[in-house]
Amino acid sequence: MASIVITGSASGIGASTAAMLRAAGYEVVGVDIAGAEVCADLSTPAGRAAAIDGALTRCGGRIDALVLCAGLGATHAPEKIASVNYFGVSELLDGFKDALEQGAMKSAVVVASVAATHGDWEGSPLREAFLAGDEEKARALCAASGHGAAAYAASKHAVVCDVRRRAAAWGARGVRLNAVAPGAVETPLLQQSIADPVVGKATAAFIPPLGRRAVPAEIAQVIGFLLSDAASYVHGSLLVVDGGIDALARPCRF
Ligand code: NAD
Repeated sequence: MASIVITGSASGIGASTAAMLRAAGYEVVGVDIAGAEVCADLSTPAGRAAAIDGALTRCGGRIDALVLCAGLGATHAPEKIASVNYFGVSELLDGFKDALEQGAMKSAVVVASVAATHGDWEGSPLREAFLAGDEEKARALCAASGHGAAAYAASKHAVVCDVRRRAAAWGARGVRLNAVAPGAVETPLLQQSIADPVVGKATAAFIPPLGRRAVPAEIAQVIGFLLSDAASYVHGSLLVVDGGIDALARPCRF
């Protein structure tokens, strides 16, 4: 039976993806801070090492596919957002790369956000810190930015850059790697944003062009597609699954 490792498996999009893949007959090894097969805190280097070690042990060193979904929304401490949303992805991609190459599906998906497409990060010291793997500096710059919204957008933008810059090396090893960019999805993370005194009103009021928010299964299905052979030539891509938010915001930039 194929083994698929999913971070953030205890809630929201990760839980929906795990349920969908289990129902399809896959063995899912969930990684989350609690309520998962492997419990680990992705906000610290030690926790990330434990997540990689724990999942590899359960899978016997061979992973068929990987979904990196764990993330914190803009309502959390900016420096923690930096650690979970960027380093909780980048270090796990490094840690699972060899095991994925041994697997049958050879496919990984990172859950980013449509926020990754917002703003101009060209020459940004924060993006440089993320991409240089300098967690201390990235955390300090995020902490200095105040509210978590900037850290959230920056971490999601950088994580998409990290996915795309791996395309050559991973492609050469036959492992496909893609990112999805959800918009507004009905999960606890979104509810926390709606309750936030700074971004809450705007989050609650905004309705995507399709006239509603997504449910987690609508993102899970796209993740399932990207993992599958139906997407056998999709690699290094950012697939926006946002009900039209990005098209509304920047119709002539893509
Ligand atoms: P969620 O809060 O329901 O699930 C996130 C999961 O990540 C939780 O199970 C949580 O415990 C886990 N997690 C958080 N910090 C962790 C840590 N330090 N260590 C281990 N696990 C940790 O949220 P969701 O909406 O399902 O979010 C999933 C992903 O989708 C996130 O990366 C999020 O940024 C992204 N996303 C969500 C939305 C949305 O509107 N819900 C929009 C765009 C992108």
